Formats: sequence, structure tokens, C-alpha cells
Amino acid sequence: MKNIVLFGPPGSGKGTQAEVLKDKYNLVHISTGDVFRYNIKNETDLGKLAKSYMDNGNLVPDEVTINMLKAEVEKNAEANGFIFDGFPRTESQAKSLDSFLSEKGETINGMVALEVAEDILVERLLNRGLTSGRTDDQDVSKIRNRFNEYQTKTAVLQDYYEAQNKYFGVDGVGSIEDITDRICLIIDKL
Ligand code: AMP
Repeated sequence: MKNIVLFGPPGSGKGTQAEVLKDKYNLVHISTGDVFRYNIKNETDLGKLAKSYMDNGNLVPDEVTINMLKAEVEKNAEANGFIFDGFPRTESQAKSLDSFLSEKGETINGMVALEVAEDILVERLLNRGLTSGRTDDQDVSKIRNRFNEYQTKTAVLQDYYEAQNKYFGVDGVGSIEDITDRICLIIDKL
């Protein structure tokens, strides 16, 4: 299996790149944000729980998110590997993912991090908000809160994966194709 964590702040292009990479490498793409949005749209219990957190740009509690992620992996038992997009976002999630995969004799092969400056990210998110319908993309204070969550809870994961020699940074500014090429140079070696 090839298991990749696609990492980066909100708006760095994880979802866009994951859509291309999943076909190229025949991997299953799991976006925890997409799974939450699907549940909100379908008014499930999980969706009702996640909504207030997401609406304000806060992270959904770990236990809920981890259980959901495990269920998504289990649904795809035959997969060739996974692209995790938007997960893990806390150290506790990263540790759970490691032990969950090791129970299956699997591991994370690498974390590919898309690096983009914050002023560019705000512009990208506001632009996406014009068409995505995502309320968390339409309000600068919610966007700032998402960055704050990222800086305080998620950014530490760079150290977590670096300690395992699994962190690979990529310049996330440029055309979609150029960024895909940069990511592939890394994935091909994993
Ligand atoms: P995203 O689509 O990745 O930008 O995620 C949108 C929102 O979903 C985030 O702001 C969080 O509220 C929630 N979310 C997605 N993934 C996670 C995660 N791994 N842990 C906690 N909350 C998450």
C-alpha cells in the first residue's frame, strides 16, 4: 500500500491535488472535510454534531473525527493505498492513525506539505467561497480562525513526521500541473 498524507493550511490546494493524484496512483482519496460536509447535507447525527464546529472554523473533536476516519478506511478494505486530505490535524489524530495502520501492517509512507503564504491563502479561500457555497470560506474572521486552529494544533505535525523522516515540503504556488509534478517527484520515491 502507498499511504500519503497531503498536508497544508486551508486553501493550500490539498483537495485539488488529491483529485489528480488519486487517479494517477490508483489511491482512495479521503477528505475528512468532505465527509463532514456530506453528513451535514444529509442531516445525519454526525453532521449535526460537526456543524457548529465547522461553521465557526473550529476543529471537530478528535474522537469523532478519528472514528469517522477509521470507518472510511474500513469501507475501502481493497484499496491500493490512501490519500489522506485534511487528516490528521492534531497530534492525537496522527498517533491514532499510526497505530490504526500498524494494526493492519501498514504505515504512512510520507507527508507531502503544500507551502503557501497566508495572504495568498486568504485570497484563494475568499475566491473559492464565491462558488463553493462554503460559509467557512466567505467570512474573513472564520478564515482567520481556521488559520489559528492550524497554527496552534496542526502545524506541529511537521515535527511529528519530520522525526520519522517522512516530511516533504513542496512549493504550493504555481499552476495546478506544475504543483502536481512537484508532488509526483516525491511520491514516486516513496
Ligand atoms: P476542510 O474541508 O479540510 O477545509 O475542513 C473543513 C472543516 O472540517 C474544518 O475547518 C474542521 O471544522 C472540519 N475538519 C475537517 N477535517 C478535520 C480533522 N481532521 N479534524 C478536525 N476537524 C476537521
